[in-house]
Parts: sequence; C-alpha cells; structure tokens
Amino acid sequence: INADNGAPTIFDKIISKEIPSAIVYEDDKVLAFKDINPVAPVHVLVIPKFRDGLTQLGKAEQRHGEILGQLLYAARIVAEKEGILEGFRVVINNGPSACQSVYHLHLHVLGGRQMHWPPG
Ligand code: 5GP
Repeated sequence: INADNGAPTIFDKIISKEIPSAIVYEDDKVLAFKDINPVAPVHVLVIPKFRDGLTQLGKAEQRHGEILGQLLYAARIVAEKEGILEGFRVVINNGPSACQSVYHLHLHVLGGRQMHWPPG
C-alpha cells in the first residue's frame, strides 16, 4: 500500500475533512496539521491541497515551483504559530529508503526539543 502508484492517499481525506485532523494553518493552497504520531513536541505536516503529481519531491517539475515555495513559507508560519521559530527542522522523506510512507508530498515541521545531526 505504501507505493508511489499515484493513487489517492489518506491526506486527500484529511484535506476534504472526511478524516479529522488538528489543523494548525490553512489557506487555499496549503494545509498544515498535527502529525498523528509525533516524534517531537511539535510535529506538523504541511501539504499541498492539490497534489498535481507531487507524490514525492523527486517528482517535482518546474511548474511546481510556486507551490513548493508556498509550502516552505507555510512551514515558517507553522513554526511561528507553534512558538518554535528560534529552532526547528523541516524534513521531506523521499522514497522508501528515506522512510516515506504517504505518497502525497509533505513537509515535516519538527521542534520543541533539541534535534540531533546527522539524523538516523
Ligand atoms: P512520511 O513517513 O511519509 O514522511 O510521513 C507520513 C506521516 O503521516 C507520518 O509521520 C504519520 O504519522 C503521518 N500520518 C499518517 N496517517 C495520518 C493521519 O491519518 N493523520 C495524521 N494527522 N497524520 C498521519
């Protein structure tokens, strides 16, 4: 089930609010909501409302430039709203070896604790 086959994902149901989520930020293009299985005190996912082929960052094309910028800026808005502007991490897992499990592009915004580098 966790393959990049272009099929709808659980995030479509979160966007349509068929599945409830704790929304942190929303506009016409972007939705940010708390991860159901947080790995840090703050763990928010930022996703495009219109996937438009962006199952993973590796599928990005030139035409996705605008939404990619909007997602990154939304990550900054989330960091401010969550009170972690001083220190936070933005992660995109791309593909099986990077542990991507949902094939709808998403940014993880992580913070509220000391992060470590390199990540595992
Ligand atoms: P990935 O492993 O693909 O980078 O991240 C997918 C993330 O989506 C995981 O951190 C997982 O906990 C989160 N997730 C999966 N299903 C749901 C859900 O139904 N609701 C919420 N809020 N998060 C989810």
